[in-house]
Amino acid sequence: MIIHRGGCHCGRVRFEVTTPAEIVVSECNCSICSKSGFLALTAPRGRFRLISGEDGLTTYRFNTGVAQHLLCSHCGIKSFYVPRSHPDGVSVNVRCPDPGAVSRMTIKPFNGQQWEKQYPQGRAKSYSD
Ligand SMILES: [Zn+2]
Repeated sequence: MIIHRGGCHCGRVRFEVTTPAEIVVSECNCSICSKSGFLALTAPRGRFRLISGEDGLTTYRFNTGVAQHLLCSHCGIKSFYVPRSHPDGVSVNVRCPDPGAVSRMTIKPFNGQQWEKQYPQGRAKSYSD
């Protein structure tokens, strides 16, 4: 397991997330991920630690309101958020770890435009989904 550190553009939001050496990330085509270019690395909450910036986060919600899109209120970058598929976990934008933190990753397309078809139970079953 490797600890990746990263954060938003201005540096107020800093986090660390512990992952296997080789990671699988999700490139989702939903309305918000496609516009922001989010590449999601989803992890259990226990493997994520917000180091700084909690008081500067703004929460944006839409549709079902389950996902909490957490934006740095100063620079606007969403470096991580609480996803609808894993409301007890965290999705980190794999574009936000510090340079060199991620060495190998596989990008897996996810059809978030048809989210309900992907997750008929209303959420993912596990972190490998
Ligand atoms: Zn920022």
